[in-house]
Order: sequence, then structure tokens, then C-alpha cells
Amino acid sequence: MTAGILVCTEISDGRATTMTKELMQAGQKLAGRINRPLGALVIGKNIREAAGEIVSLGADTVYLVDAPAFRDSSPDVYTAIVARACREITPLVILFGQTDIGRDVAPSLAAQLGAAVTMDCVGVDIDPQTGSLVQTRPVYGGNATAIWTSGGPGPFIVAMRPRSLPAAEPDRNRTGELVTLNIADYESAHRIELVETRTEQIRGIKLEDAKTIVSGGGGIGGPEGFKILEELAQVLGGAVAATRVPCDEGWVSSSIEVGQTGSIVTPDLYIAVGISGAVQHMIGCANSKRIVAINRDPDAHIFQEADLGIVGDYRKVVPALTEAIKKIQK
Ligand SMILES: Cc1cc2nc3c(=O)[nH]c(=O)nc-3n(C[C@H](O)[C@H](O)[C@H](O)COP(=O)(O)OP(=O)(O)OC[C@H]3O[C@@H](n4cnc5c(N)ncnc54)[C@H](O)[C@@H]3O)c2cc1C
Repeated sequence: MTAGILVCTEISDGRATTMTKELMQAGQKLAGRINRPLGALVIGKNIREAAGEIVSLGADTVYLVDAPAFRDSSPDVYTAIVARACREITPLVILFGQTDIGRDVAPSLAAQLGAAVTMDCVGVDIDPQTGSLVQTRPVYGGNATAIWTSGGPGPFIVAMRPRSLPAAEPDRNRTGELVTLNIADYESAHRIELVETRTEQIRGIKLEDAKTIVSGGGGIGGPEGFKILEELAQVLGGAVAATRVPCDEGWVSSSIEVGQTGSIVTPDLYIAVGISGAVQHMIGCANSKRIVAINRDPDAHIFQEADLGIVGDYRKVVPALTEAIKKIQK
């Protein structure tokens, strides 16, 4: 049993996540380069239907593992399952998303398999001349791009940043093989006890899926100010994010924090409102296609990072912007 490239999928509500579709696109390209099959690993309960979608997205073989979904499980259990699967499948390249799961599992899987791992990549390819894996990732807060090459027998583990690649388009006429892996005894890897699960109600679009993000910082001053940002996000069909300050202050949920300790986002448009532009924040948004900054301090560092800047109090600027966009949309 072997797959040249193995995508570790993430399934949400029975469907492939956007990140998984992007990984399938990357996987197809790599598999084509080395003329080897593209495999996809699907772990969880009631996953057969999702397997059909994964085939339509380009998998030659879908490996199914009937096990607890990640959210009901622990990173240790999940890593143990993926490690066992990889030992059977022997892929050259294992692709993860730079998501909560990918961040947890990819490095510990690398340790278990004795494999190389490169996190947070925005590009991945195989050099046709040397056969080396070429990985691209932003460094120094997005101010430079590093290119790593990995050679040798592998396996190589790569975690891809969300929205750095186009998503694979489904082709319902594609056919693929379904292989059930019987992986038992993974429970012994269990070191963490899940005490409680709290499902957060996400209103509107998820951060990783948003093409437009309106992000607020310490300058917003309180939870009321975020309502002004929500109105702008709504007319633009986007999502609201924040720097660490509003999250620490409890004005917004910490799940929308962007930056070094939050999410890394790559929308088409990132509107930074009342944000100073600290490096720990910019790490999370510097690869946005366009950054627009709104800040009352003309010397704020964010203006050096932005494509367009508006100097002014956000309480005046943002509602005016929202109204102007509404007029254009009429
Ligand atoms: C290890 C570590 C990890 C970190 N990780 C993260 C991370 O993941 N994400 C993150 O964001 N930060 C992170 N930080 C914190 C980071 O260093 C900064 O402190 C933080 O990003 C600052 O947030 P801010 O720009 O919103 O707030 P501030 O620095 O308080 O800036 C507020 C800005 O709002 C402007 N302003 C004020 N009032 C108005 C108004 N009415 N209208 C318009 N503009 C106004 C001000 O001019 C100022 O520029 C981390 C720090 C450390 C040490």
C-alpha cells in the first residue's frame, strides 16, 4: 500500500473544509510531478460520504479510519492514528493545513516518524531536476520569504497556510479507491482527558474563509466599538477579527485573534482599525492581498505596512465608509 502524496483531511459537518480543498489542489500538483498516486486520510465517525467528496476533489485513494473525531479526541490519539496510517501507506509527502489540528499534529507526527516538518508554508513543489521538495514560507513577520529544500528518502511533512492556494474544484465523474484501515489500540496514546466541549456560535463567515476581514485593535476602546466594525464587515460580506488587546480585555472572543498567538489569515482585503501594527500582529495578516489602515495617529507603524491609509478617528471614518459602500451597492 503506498501513496506518493498523502493529504490529512479535515471534515466539518460531513464536508471537506476549505483548507482540505486547498490541500487537495497542492496534493494533485505534487502527485503529478512525481507521477505517483494522491492519497487522502479521513479520520472520524460516519465518514464514508465525505470520502466520496474527497475522491471528487482529486484523491486516487481515500484511507478511512473509523475513530473518534478530532474534537472528541486528543492530539496524542490523533497523532498516534496518523503515525500508524503513515507507516502503512508510506507516503513521500504528508500535507496538513496550518490549522488547530495541523499545528498540533504535524510536529509530533514528525517526531514519531523521524521526518522533516515545515510549518506555515505558502508554497510547495517538487523540483523536477533534483526531485527535492521545495517549501516556501514567509519569515520576519512576512517581510521576507524563505525557500527550503528537503531531499533524501522522506517522508516530508508540510503544513500549508490557509488561503495561500486555490481550492480544488470537485469533479463528480472522478473515481477512486476506498481503503479502510483497521487501526486499533490507539487509545493507549491518550494522555489528555477532555473535560468539557463548548461550541462557540460563530456569526457570519469564519475567519479562514473570509475574503474581507475588518480587524479591530486597542484603539476600538470597548465592545461597543466592535459593533461599528461588524456593520462594515456585514456590508462587505466579511468577518471581524481583532488584535490581542481586545481579546485580553474581553471585548471580543479570543477565537478571532490574529497574529503570532492567534490565527494567520490571508484575505484579499484586511482593514486594520485602531491597530498600531506590532510585529506580533502583522505576522498574522501581512500576507493579505491588500491592507487598509484606519488610525488617528499619522505616525502609527501600521501605515508603513498598509497599501492605503486613512488618518482619523474610526468612530467617524468607519460609519462613513459603511454608508458610502451601501450607496455604491444600491
Ligand atoms: C509573545 C507575544 C505574542 C503576541 N501575540 C500577539 C498576537 O498573536 N496578536 C496580536 O495582535 N498581538 C500579539 N501580541 C501583542 C503585540 O505585541 C501588541 O501589543 C498588540 O498587537 C497591540 O495591539 P493594538 O495594536 O491593537 O493596540 P495598541 O498598541 O494599543 O494600539 C492601538 C492603536 O489604535 C490607535 N487608536 C486609538 N484610538 C483610536 C481611534 N479612536 N481611532 C483610530 N485609531 C485609534 C492608536 O493610535 C494605536 O495605534 C503579542 C505579544 C507578545 C509579547
